Amino acid sequence: MLDTVHYRVPPGTAVFLKSYDPADDGNFTGKDDVEDDLKKNTKKLLELQEKLYAQGKHALLIILQAMDAGGKDSTIAHVMNAFNPQGCSVVGFKAPTAEELAHDFLWRIHQKTPRLGMVTIFNRSHYEDVLVVRVHNLVPAAVWQQRYTSINDFERLVADSGVTILKFFLYISKDEQKKRLQDRIDDPTKHWKFNPQDLKERALWDDYMLAYEAALSKCSTTWAPWYVIPANHNWYRNLLVSTIIRQTMEGMGLEWPPAPDGLEKIKIPD
Ligand code: ATP
Ligand code: MG
Repeated sequence: MLDTVHYRVPPGTAVFLKSYDPADDGNFTGKDDVEDDLKKNTKKLLELQEKLYAQGKHALLIILQAMDAGGKDSTIAHVMNAFNPQGCSVVGFKAPTAEELAHDFLWRIHQKTPRLGMVTIFNRSHYEDVLVVRVHNLVPAAVWQQRYTSINDFERLVADSGVTILKFFLYISKDEQKKRLQDRIDDPTKHWKFNPQDLKERALWDDYMLAYEAALSKCSTTWAPWYVIPANHNWYRNLLVSTIIRQTMEGMGLEWPPAPDGLEKIKIPD
């Protein structure tokens, strides 16, 4: 059995990313080696999601954060492939609009949390408000420093309302990012993904790692744990993410709703 606990950040511990290996492959030999497990997860996830939807008592929020080219889009494609689109939505968060900036930083986030019965995936999230915002000094330090507490309180509120929260940091190495960005220049089908701004952010890699370490250390809680997912190998990343989602949903007590009273006496007319 895959040891996923190992990738979860224990609440209250200081994270040093240097002690994680982004090229970790769990001692699997490659994509072929995990194919069966990936298929099993996909099948199981659909069944679990159908129960979640039918029951309408729980929801699941999956938060994805990564450096550029870290694999958020491809992880979403893989996970969404398992789910029925009717019960699942993806929300991306870009730089806030003037309207959003005129509210507290969680205002736009709260509107997008899943209703009961649904799965929502966040492609970036409120964590940008302690990552890009911190690295670029977009607000005074005293403001972003307060946000870790606000985030934990907010996530607690959401969790207490029936939403299970999972947070994944897809961790690639700086070398791997270089390869992937180069690929976006070399491969015409990927030109559209190349954004020169990504190079500016890349130059701030070390600052970002510090900001990630702070977010992972301060905001991994029992009600909204962070996972550091080694993401240099797409297939291992997909295996870990799908297994963690599966295990989490298996622990949510999802059941098919009971038959309404008198169902057995109903006869369908000819
Ligand atoms: P991605 O890079 O996630 O694949 P994309 O390339 O489609 O997405 P971008 O134009 O890069 O989209 O939009 C995301 C950008 O918005 C990122 O640079 C991110 O840091 C920025 N962003 C998100 N939330 C905030 C925020 N709260 N404050 C400032 N910038 C933010
Ligand atoms: Mg981008």
